[in-house]
Amino acid sequence: MDDPDEDTDAARRDARPLPTGKVLGFVWRQWMRRPRRFAAICTLMLAGTLCDLAIPWAAGALVDAASNPAHVAASAWRQWTMLSALYLGYYTVRTAAFQLINSFSARNMEVLTNEAFARVQAFSSDWHADTFSGATVRRVSRAMWGYDTVTDSIFFVLGPGFVVLFGLAVSMGLRWPPAGLFCGVLFMVFIGYNAVVTSRFIRPVNLISNGLDTRIGASLADAIGGNPVVKAFGAEAREIASFSAVTGAWRAATIRTWNAFNVAGLGQNLLMWLLQGGLTGMIVWAWAHHRASAGDVAFALTSFTLMSGYLRNFSETLRNLQKGLDDVLDVADYMQTEPQVADIPSAADYAPPHRGPRGGIVFDRITFNYKGQTLPIFERFSLDIAPGERVALVGPTGSGKSTFVKLIQRLYDLDAGRILIDGTDIATVTQRSLRRAIALVPQDPALFHRTLSENIAYGRPDATQEQVVAAARRARAHDFISRLPKGYDTLVGERGVKLSGGERQRVAIARAFLADAPILVLDEATSSLDVETERQVQAASEALMAGRTTIVIAHRLSTIREADRILVFENGAIVEEGGHGELVAQGGAYARLHHLTQA
Ligand code: ADP
Repeated sequence: MDDPDEDTDAARRDARPLPTGKVLGFVWRQWMRRPRRFAAICTLMLAGTLCDLAIPWAAGALVDAASNPAHVAASAWRQWTMLSALYLGYYTVRTAAFQLINSFSARNMEVLTNEAFARVQAFSSDWHADTFSGATVRRVSRAMWGYDTVTDSIFFVLGPGFVVLFGLAVSMGLRWPPAGLFCGVLFMVFIGYNAVVTSRFIRPVNLISNGLDTRIGASLADAIGGNPVVKAFGAEAREIASFSAVTGAWRAATIRTWNAFNVAGLGQNLLMWLLQGGLTGMIVWAWAHHRASAGDVAFALTSFTLMSGYLRNFSETLRNLQKGLDDVLDVADYMQTEPQVADIPSAADYAPPHRGPRGGIVFDRITFNYKGQTLPIFERFSLDIAPGERVALVGPTGSGKSTFVKLIQRLYDLDAGRILIDGTDIATVTQRSLRRAIALVPQDPALFHRTLSENIAYGRPDATQEQVVAAARRARAHDFISRLPKGYDTLVGERGVKLSGGERQRVAIARAFLADAPILVLDEATSSLDVETERQVQAASEALMAGRTTIVIAHRLSTIREADRILVFENGAIVEEGGHGELVAQGGAYARLHHLTQA
């Protein structure tokens, strides 16, 4: 198993995490998808908070009224009604706000996840090659719930908390200025303390434990995806041990994170204690010096109870907010990373010509270099492939055959030059339309864990069942599919593991038949198939090639012989080019390969 630390995407980001302010900006943009709904929620939450804020006043007035026997009947009942109405108002508007928040949050979580998925899909083949799929899965799902935590923290606790705490400091100041000043100063210290501790102390440990959480996802997916190899080597115990090392590191980091939360709580408790001691001390002093009525005492005590409730939640929620933002960070980062191979703004869909020959390919003085490689694979390379021509690519592994095909599919951008298909520069059309014009039959086709029908129709989802069956017949796949108990409705297992190599290949050929693209790329299987299967696959491939420009990464002698042209690759360059007989006669690289395969 590769070391999940090699996930270069994570390494890049961990070295330079997005600042919290930018992540907050990303969350804000999610809220602003529905500004009216956002404003309605804020208004309701504010109304509920104002009810909360008025409660100490009502409590003070009720106690004052109750302590004056002459007015008990009229005034005290009035105050009681007021207090009850405030509580009722508080519960009602908050319930209404929660109702709105539920659909607001769920919808934004859905959109955020969909957009993250779309962005990840748009990233280049290089990005995917460098990134563990399990890590990406973990990051996207963590962001979805991180967004929820951020929204809940702000709407339910921090937003109302700010209003209540400053409102209480002001209302206390109105009734009794020294107490108001005391509370105001303590609140500022409290919020400042929490903000500093959270960003300086909590965030770094959060990022470390999140990194390890991502590694858990990466390791799980890697080892589970590679289960056949694990089984084949009886390596279960080794995999369990290396996975335990990752979860062990996660445990240690998570304990540090939680302990950091706890230690941060110490300072908060000290400030709460100061508030409690100072405020109640001031009340007792005022009461003893006949400067406060019973109502003032009730007002101060109710205020204290209210504020201590908010303060207690405040620091815990601020830490949750930071955690939520750190969870969203990866997706916020994805969303500001432009796809490495992007459509140009004016890109139109590629449409093959309606009439005349289709599928001509021109390499016009192209230069291409893989990132991180010092020498270019292709340098000022030119080649013309005529419409309908059958070209075989031969050469040892690593000689550049797959790269040649990937450039036609525009999986990478060129460093110089152009590739034209039917006269159109492939860099000027949408990637989606370009790739639809090229049908690919890979060497070891990976299928989706969906039905055979769905797999065959993947290149043309609107195909009817009759068309799917017709394509399967042409691909010599119908017979084996019909023998399966569930026929075309059979689920093929992850990556198609429930089918044999030859069967998977014929499904891929059927898929290419249905896609009906003018250009066909056929990467022949190197693994040996039994004679009957080989014959079937070959017949199916022949049928598929008819009438299309075909590029075959060739391993079979028969395909090579029948090619219109053979391109011989060596060390990333085409060293010979021509027909079979011509190249054998030349006595060069191809002739040597030919003799080797015949030996
Ligand atoms: P072939 O298909 O003939 O086996 P490839 O086109 O896959 O050869 O590879 C050609 C060369 O490019 C090899 O040296 C290979 O190591 C290098 N190469 C292939 N893919 C990448 C990549 N994503 N990044 C860097 N180098 C690569």
